Amino acid sequence: MATIQNNMQAVKARIAAACSASGRPESSVRLVAVSKTHPAESIRAAVSVGQRDFGENYVQEALVKIGALADLALVWHFIGPIQSNKARPIAESFHWVHSLDREKIATRLSEARPGNLPPLNVCIEVNVSGEPSKSGVAPQAVAGLARQTCALPRLRLRGLMAIPEPTSDIRLQRRQFRTLRELKDELVRSGLDLDTLSMGMSADMEAAIAEGSTMVRIGTAIFGPRDNARA
Ligand SMILES: *Cc1c(COP(=O)(O)O)cnc(C)c1O
Repeated sequence: MATIQNNMQAVKARIAAACSASGRPESSVRLVAVSKTHPAESIRAAVSVGQRDFGENYVQEALVKIGALADLALVWHFIGPIQSNKARPIAESFHWVHSLDREKIATRLSEARPGNLPPLNVCIEVNVSGEPSKSGVAPQAVAGLARQTCALPRLRLRGLMAIPEPTSDIRLQRRQFRTLRELKDELVRSGLDLDTLSMGMSADMEAAIAEGSTMVRIGTAIFGPRDNARA
């Protein structure tokens, strides 16, 4: 567990260095610790050094941990693919959804969001690499889904998210993140009030921050490697 606390400090130092290299304040990047496949005790270790935002990909697994950690005031981010029959538990238990990629899911999330909670924060996931196997909407479909999402009463569209094609080529990393930033800027120019670019993971957070990321989603660099079976 000491390792997780040390890793947290190292990740924060990487974020601080990347912000400083781009002349951005450190406070402009929010760290979401991606705890999928890791137990509640690992999350507590991160909480002990001040972490509050956690990302999960699998609904059943997440609900167990959210229940086990209900004594802590945490912010839960759903970042995995969404099956329509899971929209209700997601809308009931999470504060953010980063992986919205179709209208049907948006409608279900809005309908299922409990009235006593604030609107659910959502980001639209964009397929910036154009890989056919990737989730996320095509760049040319983003504006349409954004308009539909903004019309739903129980959702608050905050911005865009992407998982780019993995590459060690920094220029290619940056080009994909730039595509996402430009899409968001275009939506803002068209009148939408967006403040979030959810981009950057353990291997590419520096490139993401250089291109304007406001939320990095970091798993491996905090919690260590995951069981391959569940990625
Ligand atoms: C697993 C996952 C992450 C974290 O990836 P690491 O490379 O472990 O930092 C971030 N975003 C999404 C959507 C993920 O599924």
